[in-house]
Amino acid sequence: MPSRSLLTLLSVLALTSTVGDGHAAGARARAAGAAQARPVVARGGRVAAAVRPARAPSRGRSPKRLVGYARALFAGGATAAKVRTLHSLAGGFADERGRATDALADALRAIDRAHGDRFDTRTTQQFQRMLAELGVTTHRKLELPLDRTPYWLRIKQPYADFRSRPTPPTEADVVIVGAGLTGASTAYHLAADPRARGLKVVVVEAGDPGNEASGKNGGNFEIMPENFLGVYEGLERERFKYLKKLYPTLDDATARREAANQATAILRFTTRNRARFVDIVRKEKLEVDFSPRGWLRIAETATEEQGIADEVALGRSLGLDIETVTPAEIKARTGIDAVYGGRLTNDGNYHPFKYVNGLLGKALDRGVELYARTPVRSIARTGGGHLVQTARGPIRAKKVIVATNAFTRELLPELAGIEPWQSQVMITEHAPVTFQGLLTRKQGDVYVHYRDDANRYDDRALAAASGGKLTQRAPFLTGGGLDRPFKDAHKPRVSRSVFETMIEDRDKIAPGLKGQPPSQTNSGPMAFTRDRLPVVGELEPGLFVAAGFNGYGGSYTTAAGEAGSAWAIDGGIPAWIPREVFSPHRLIGDAPLFRQPTPKESSR
Ligand SMILES: Cc1cc2nc3c(=O)[nH]c(=O)nc-3n(C[C@H](O)[C@H](O)[C@H](O)COP(=O)(O)OP(=O)(O)OC[C@H]3O[C@@H](n4cnc5c(N)ncnc54)[C@H](O)[C@@H]3O)c2cc1C
Repeated sequence: MPSRSLLTLLSVLALTSTVGDGHAAGARARAAGAAQARPVVARGGRVAAAVRPARAPSRGRSPKRLVGYARALFAGGATAAKVRTLHSLAGGFADERGRATDALADALRAIDRAHGDRFDTRTTQQFQRMLAELGVTTHRKLELPLDRTPYWLRIKQPYADFRSRPTPPTEADVVIVGAGLTGASTAYHLAADPRARGLKVVVVEAGDPGNEASGKNGGNFEIMPENFLGVYEGLERERFKYLKKLYPTLDDATARREAANQATAILRFTTRNRARFVDIVRKEKLEVDFSPRGWLRIAETATEEQGIADEVALGRSLGLDIETVTPAEIKARTGIDAVYGGRLTNDGNYHPFKYVNGLLGKALDRGVELYARTPVRSIARTGGGHLVQTARGPIRAKKVIVATNAFTRELLPELAGIEPWQSQVMITEHAPVTFQGLLTRKQGDVYVHYRDDANRYDDRALAAASGGKLTQRAPFLTGGGLDRPFKDAHKPRVSRSVFETMIEDRDKIAPGLKGQPPSQTNSGPMAFTRDRLPVVGELEPGLFVAAGFNGYGGSYTTAAGEAGSAWAIDGGIPAWIPREVFSPHRLIGDAPLFRQPTPKESSR
């Protein structure tokens, strides 16, 4: 039978090792139990079995007692482990949604003021993690959050380490490499198309499905991919700017014609993407938290405002549900003060990881095979197809669809023009939902949105405090802006300066969050091309590539998968994917694929 001191040691270890490594709700549930468990404090890394600095406060008592408890707890010096102990207790005073009550927030702020000066960085991070999960502000500089788990990956991973059979087959009609949004959509479309009945379709994924960009992103779902140079001047003018930058000798008339062609092709693609997405989600009853409550882009200059108005006109001419809004309309419809007008679309945000899993689930039900944790090492052309060399053996494939976005050049070095870029997002918990129901907005380089999933909740105290103006709280996502190239797509890094810029922008957009530490931040690999257009097309007979989404996977990947599926079935690329705009060949060599005027035509 274990001795009393051993039991004490075990209970301390259990307390310190389980608290603080989960998310708000989980930590709170654990904490509620732990708060009753009379903690014993670890001092200087050793267990001080008999030291009980104060009677551990628990439910039914005032959270004010935490102040005295913390004084005794930190008497011999504060450590991250001791803060975890405090966190476990504080969690017991949170409300049913895991948010600190006013009394608890006051107590934690008092502790912060009294002891925070003496915390080292790690201890401060641990302390701010507690504040973040409980939704409490601090007067101190915000440290990088300790939690790097992407928001979308907090849920269960249904296909982690999934394998349809112990080993992949040695032969297949179609092999899809990569199981993010693109690979999952391709698999879904192949499985759903009656013309593909009888085809053996195999998905091979290096890691777990949806764990790269598709599970680490901002979750925006937009009709208008906004890649731009300098000040944003609307889709068509931005296309013109890219064309002039890439081909400086191109005459203006040709560049203008091609810019119009590209803008139209992009909008046909994204409109189709949206329609497919909505149709699939409805038809298959996928739970993906899609919230098309309005996506607002606010201009920051008169030039931008004009550019946006022009692109709205283009969008409307193509049948898009899109409108310009004046500052007065923005104020009336969302409560946001704006100097310039902008555009409002019926887009919003969604849960990309749930969507990946939903698509894969339907594909698997219909006979597609999936092999997670099965990296493809090489793809080589053979007579009549390709040999796909995987870590679990070779597959001879009649057709291969490469859906590896930022990792594409590792398998296809000729597509080095699809470059890995990294981007960062962060979550602030328990944010009051403002914008009068509108969920997503973008201004300058930064986008923000409220989650509209199970984590959104009514808050009576908030409603009372705001006279009924604000009634709900939700996790608040901030991201974007400072995307940058990096070498190894497997190693995105969280940047402190990007974090600080996002905090600054967050606080400008949602001043009520000032001083509230985010609960997590993560970065992830995007894939950029020099012309900021995706790559969707045939690289060589039998090999199709869908990658390089330039930060707009939500806008393109469903339709890109549809295109890959159509190609695998009938060999052709759909007409809404014009070759001169989207083919991978435009990235090989310097010459554009669109028709340029002959010298004779130019001299006219
Ligand atoms: C931080 C961040 C924020 C973003 N925000 C948004 C946003 O708000 N809205 C938006 O529309 N887009 C956003 N994006 C972009 C969007 O996430 C991507 O465009 C989209 O996820 C691309 O999907 P994918 O399936 O092509 O790529 P991925 O999701 O990266 O999937 C590629 C898959 O291929 C696998 N793979 C790679 N190499 C191999 C191999 N050799 N063998 C087998 N498998 C392999 C990978 O493991 C991976 O699972 C963001 C991206 C990031 C990183």
